[in-house]
Amino acid sequence: MVAPCERPSAAREVRRVKPLPKTVAPLPDELLSGWLSRLAVANYCDDAELMTHIEIDTAYGTALDFSIDAAAAEKIASAARVAPDVVRSLTFPAMTPREASLTAQMPFQHCLQCSQEGLSLRHWRRAWAFDCQVCGTRLVQTLGKTGGEQISDKLIYRARRGAGVLECAARSRSPKQLRRARRAVTFAMSLKGCHGEPLFALQSHRPEVRLFCLAAIDAAQSRPLIKAAISSSGIDDYAKVALLRTFEKEPRLLSAVDHIAQRRASSKGPMTAESRN
Ligand SMILES: [Zn+2]
Repeated sequence: MVAPCERPSAAREVRRVKPLPKTVAPLPDELLSGWLSRLAVANYCDDAELMTHIEIDTAYGTALDFSIDAAAAEKIASAARVAPDVVRSLTFPAMTPREASLTAQMPFQHCLQCSQEGLSLRHWRRAWAFDCQVCGTRLVQTLGKTGGEQISDKLIYRARRGAGVLECAARSRSPKQLRRARRAVTFAMSLKGCHGEPLFALQSHRPEVRLFCLAAIDAAQSRPLIKAAISSSGIDDYAKVALLRTFEKEPRLLSAVDHIAQRRASSKGPMTAESRN
C-alpha cells in the first residue's frame, strides 16, 4: 500500500497523482496506450479505471499515443513513478504528413504472440509493417477474422515484398516511389471493388484487401504494367496476360482491367484518342 502524502503546506498548482501500488517498465517500441493497459493489469484495474485515477479523460485513449501535453505526461509519470520523459518517449515523434498518412491512428493489426503478453508496439501501426519485429510472427488484422479465409502463400510472399518496397519508399521519402505505390494500390482496390483513399486500404481490416494491395505494390515495382493499365485507354493482350501472371488467379482481373480502360476512355471523350493522331 502507498501511504498518502498530504502536505498541508504544499499549495502548489500542480496536483500530483497518487502513485500506483505497482509499476511496470516500458519495453522497447512499446506504445503509451499499450503500456498504460499493462499498468492497469498490474494494478488490478481496467484501462478506464486507471485513466480515472490518473485524472485523464478516457476519451483521449489512443490519441495520447500521438500527442500528449506536459500536464498529462506529468500525471501519468507520477502515478507510474517514472520520469515524464519516459512517458513522452512512448508516443510517436512528430511525423511528416506523408509518414502520418502511412501510420494508423487506431490499432489495425497486431502480433498474436506478443498481444497475448499484453504488448502493443509502435511499429505495428505502420502501413508497411508485416512481420513482428520482436518475435517474427506475421502480423494479423486486429478485427479481421482469424483463420478461415484462404490466403495463399504466394500472395503472402508477394505482399511481404510489397511491404518492403513501401517501407523503402516511405523511409527514403521518395515522392516518385510513393506515387508508384499509391497507383498500384489504387489499381488493386479497383480489382477488389474497394473505394476510398488508397493509403487507408493498406490499413484495411480485411486481410485479403491489405495483402492484395501490398502485392500490387510489389508487382508495380518489377512491371510498370499496372501504370500502363491505368494510364492507357486501351490495354493490349500482352499486358492482360502479364497482369494475370503478376497477380494471383483473379477471375475478375480481366474484366476489371477492361472496365478501367473503358471508363478512362469514356471519361476522356470519344474525340481524344483520335485527335492525338
Ligand atoms: Zn510478436
